[in-house]
Amino acid sequence: MLRKEDRFKEFRSWYRKIPAPQLKSVFEGLWQTSFFTHSELIEMASDTLRVMDRAVDVEGGEVPETENKVMLMPGFPCPLCRFPTYSWVEDMGNKLESYVLDFIRENHPGWDIEFGACDRCVEVYKLRADGVM
Ligand SMILES: [Zn+2]
Repeated sequence: MLRKEDRFKEFRSWYRKIPAPQLKSVFEGLWQTSFFTHSELIEMASDTLRVMDRAVDVEGGEVPETENKVMLMPGFPCPLCRFPTYSWVEDMGNKLESYVLDFIRENHPGWDIEFGACDRCVEVYKLRADGVM
């Protein structure tokens, strides 16, 4: 059995992308929950935002805004190719030319920058937008 502090360290290593104050609130919410149903566990395992929904108010913490939010977590499918992705291209609005972004939007209606994309797709779409492929 691990102590709460050790569990927190373990938890922090899994969810490095969650900002520290939010991580504190989320961990506290999970810690205070006496049990989870099987479906709740499945939901949390497949969607980090459902983990973040567990956040509670705690000193030095921050309850994250999860509504309409997309999280680019390692292993989640890329919205363009659907393959599990470990290398997301973030901050696409600054990293890519707007004509490349428009080209992706044309090919994937409903897609936008906040959904991200894997580095392979970004390379392919850059070339395709330039007419190379
Ligand atoms: Zn992709």
